[in-house]
Amino acid sequence: MSNKLTLEKLVSLCQRRGFIFPSSDIYGGLSGCWDYGPVGTELKRNVKEAWWRSVVQERDDMVGMDASILMNTKVWEASGHIERMVDPLVECRNCHQRWRADELIGPTCPACGGELTEPRMFNVMFKTHIGPVEEEGNVVYLRPETAQGMFVNFNNVANTSRKRLPFGIAQIGKSFRNEITTGNFIFRSREFEQMEIEFFVKPGTDDKWFEYWVAERLNWYERLGLKKEHLKLDVHPPEKLAHYARCCTDVTYLFPHGWAELEGIANRSDYDLKRHSEASGKVLDYYDDEIKEHMVPYVIEPSAGVDRSVLAFLCDAYDEEPDKDEIRVLFHFHPELAPIKVAVLPLSRKENLAALAKDVYKDLRPCFVTQYDDTQSIGRRYRRQDELGTPFCVTVDFQSLEDNMATIRERDSMNQIRVPIPSLRPTLQAKLAGEDIMVLPEGGVVWKEEKK
Ligand code: ATP
Repeated sequence: MSNKLTLEKLVSLCQRRGFIFPSSDIYGGLSGCWDYGPVGTELKRNVKEAWWRSVVQERDDMVGMDASILMNTKVWEASGHIERMVDPLVECRNCHQRWRADELIGPTCPACGGELTEPRMFNVMFKTHIGPVEEEGNVVYLRPETAQGMFVNFNNVANTSRKRLPFGIAQIGKSFRNEITTGNFIFRSREFEQMEIEFFVKPGTDDKWFEYWVAERLNWYERLGLKKEHLKLDVHPPEKLAHYARCCTDVTYLFPHGWAELEGIANRSDYDLKRHSEASGKVLDYYDDEIKEHMVPYVIEPSAGVDRSVLAFLCDAYDEEPDKDEIRVLFHFHPELAPIKVAVLPLSRKENLAALAKDVYKDLRPCFVTQYDDTQSIGRRYRRQDELGTPFCVTVDFQSLEDNMATIRERDSMNQIRVPIPSLRPTLQAKLAGEDIMVLPEGGVVWKEEKK
């Protein structure tokens, strides 16, 4: 993250370039809700896909699922959310702003210094009704976390996937919390997405797996580009633990507004499976055929926010560099996360050049998210792609018509290499995968190790 970054700058850049807009923008927005634009949608998809690849696709001990957002209200009674998903709300007697009492630093209203009311407990779950009649008996809640969908499906998933302990279930989906205070852009909103894992283990091995997942998840953020010095683990003291947790460690990130939680990793013990077994009357357990015994697994839960991850990746990748008399603004996104991988830019709109550039574009498009841009000067177009964080621009010029070669310009170094057009695909593919390659003048692509 550049020390020149402020949240205001980021919000305005995100809006200008089509990453994120306020929800219902033309009606003045809706507090705590955001819309992802064309570029932001690609970025968010890439974050979710990178997570899914790392925790499901590349592992033998994980499977995915996708539960419904609305669930039987008995789920929330059993899980403790109806009773305990509450925040202490206070209101200023003077300006009537509302605050979360546990987040206030002083005894008075942070906005006007006015006197505050006594705290009252406020349940943050959104309520609605199922069916046409709005009666108490028809109340359902929008899920405030995706986790419960995985607990109540424990038997379904364990039986159908035939996994042996330890194994996990992963899920990505929307969650809703009627937060008392929202803010810091997409950091805290009322509608957001979570990427959650419930990793079931034999009791007694839970401490080891807890440590494993803390390290694994911290690594994931680092591997995708967050700087080590912007990440820190925060171990919860016993008095800060949620009612279901034996221990909890947060991965925190240095956002522009300070250090704050990116992901929580909790050891939830056998709390959830036991609660749902008791409440539903259905046994949720595991038969260990080695020791011929039934057991209720313990669960380790790494619970991450998609939007908070997107915000952290945006903040960390943001940079401003002096460039001649101007400032170059860019996002150094990891190639896996970059919303647009390649931009094809014809130097001019002249017909024969445009035709060749369009052919290049059509050839690359099936492999990478590619953008074609023939507006404005080439310098302005490079700047625009820098602000979108596009790792590579391919420029087709008049020389290309003669030698069938194009220029690849790299975002971070601004280095340019000339590559035969038929070699563009493999060259870009290798470069995006971070492979160390060398391009031969006659068009071949050689991996560095083979150079000698
Ligand atoms: P906080 O203390 O910041 O409210 P939490 O401890 O309640 O968060 P969890 O219940 O552990 O959060 O949720 C897991 C993850 O879901 C969080 O680490 C965060 O990334 C994400 N998350 C939770 N609430 C929100 C929200 N209101 N907006 C955006 N993301 C959220």
